[in-house]
Amino acid sequence: MRRIIVAGNWKMNKTNQEVTDFFTQLKEEIKSLNLNNVSPIIAPPFIYLQNAQQIANDTEIKLSAQDISEHDFGAYTGEVSAPMLKSINVEYSIVGHSERREYHNEIDMQVGIKAQKLIDNGITPIICVGEKENEREMGMTESVILSQLKLIFDEMKAVDPTKIIIAYEPVWAIGTGKTATPHMAQEVHKIIRQWLAKNISNEAANQIPILYGGSVKPDNFEELLSQKDIDGGLIGGASLKIDDYMSLLNTATKISK
Ligand code: PEP
Repeated sequence: MRRIIVAGNWKMNKTNQEVTDFFTQLKEEIKSLNLNNVSPIIAPPFIYLQNAQQIANDTEIKLSAQDISEHDFGAYTGEVSAPMLKSINVEYSIVGHSERREYHNEIDMQVGIKAQKLIDNGITPIICVGEKENEREMGMTESVILSQLKLIFDEMKAVDPTKIIIAYEPVWAIGTGKTATPHMAQEVHKIIRQWLAKNISNEAANQIPILYGGSVKPDNFEELLSQKDIDGGLIGGASLKIDDYMSLLNTATKISK
């Protein structure tokens, strides 16, 4: 049975005090949940990782970065690398988020290089793929996703399915309030799983969690999670409010029983 992952992507939000307040409250409220097979992950901006981690230290809450450099160390002003994350025991990092692709011109090959850097440092990449609105309208969703997967995984060495997460995030659904219907999301998740079976291994297809992201809210999460191939969410806006995030965790624990 694959675990259910409730991953919050905070993007460029919150002050240090707000981070402290959120994690302190989350740490307290999470005690009332039987998390079983549910993994809470939060990706705050880099500068808050250590503060958040100290608060979450003895809990099930894990920390993720939102991106990393393709390089390990050196003259790359403003960047943060996988070995640096490893040195502060961060366990996850998002790579290939559509905002990185759009505003920083990131391409699939770089996403694959970054994912491999993370794996080399014992960090689990949360690899994002997803089609744009015009691509969906032109009936290109499947070909876009398959091409992204190929180009990303071409840059990766032997794949350990226990150390990879994939997130399907249709770009048109991110931060827009438009959610893919559970059926639309399930169709793409199934395509991703079939691709993994054919091109990586059956083990990878069975074990790699595939998250859905794009305007996930407390009121649509249950239906999304009830789809066969949806193993959790990568959640932006709704992960910023403690009540919403707790509600998402609650739903996940209900489904995992
Ligand atoms: C995201 O940031 O990955 C995301 C899915 O955002 P939102 O939930 O706000 O659409």
